[in-house]
Amino acid sequence: MRTIGLLGGMSWESTELYYRWINEGVKRRLGGLHSARIAMVSVDFEEIEKLQHADRWADAGAVLAEAAQRVEAAGADFLLICTNTMHKVVPDIERKIQIPILHLADATADRIKAQSMKTIGLLGTNFTMEQDFYKGRLSEQHGLNVIVPSAEDRKIVHDVIYEELVLGIVKESSRQEYLRIMQQMHEDGAEGIIEGCTEIVLLVQQAHTSIPLFDTTSIHAEAAVDWALVR
Ligand code: GLU
Repeated sequence: MRTIGLLGGMSWESTELYYRWINEGVKRRLGGLHSARIAMVSVDFEEIEKLQHADRWADAGAVLAEAAQRVEAAGADFLLICTNTMHKVVPDIERKIQIPILHLADATADRIKAQSMKTIGLLGTNFTMEQDFYKGRLSEQHGLNVIVPSAEDRKIVHDVIYEELVLGIVKESSRQEYLRIMQQMHEDGAEGIIEGCTEIVLLVQQAHTSIPLFDTTSIHAEAAVDWALVR
């Protein structure tokens, strides 16, 4: 079994899910007392969030690259960056480590394509919904048509992430807003919805809607188990 590297803490509310779901996946596949080999470095999210909103992505990239080097030094065979948003700095991290990165957008796109879907709604931070490192990768590298909410609704989605979900706050009123926005994207042609922020699964699960959901946290965790056991 290979050692899974986790770059976590963005936020720890979702890193906790990664840790649990990866271990559960290994236990399911191997049985007995098996658990995952994991090397994790968890950063201070306050520092990262300040750099994001100050548009200081190179500085954020440097912090994460240094953390990724520590994950590699701890024996990881490959790396998961446990946040969609910080995939923006993948090139900064790749330059500093030798081990491969299991890219969250690629793992998610593979799952969508396996279900033969072409048009997909994307929810996440404004960075993820608006910029090419994620939305562009889904369309250019994977041929998906990506729908995002209106600017007004993107702000609602973004604010709920930073003011509630990364703090572990789950409000029914926010769930209803997300479900309304998901329904709108579905009416606009989205065959399914990417929960493209690793905390959204805390708020909306498949049981809340008949629209197919692609929860990036569980998709990433399952792909990590595949890589650890098969590759
Ligand atoms: N975990 C979130 C994501 O998947 C947002 C937190 C962050 O900005 O990293 O994008």
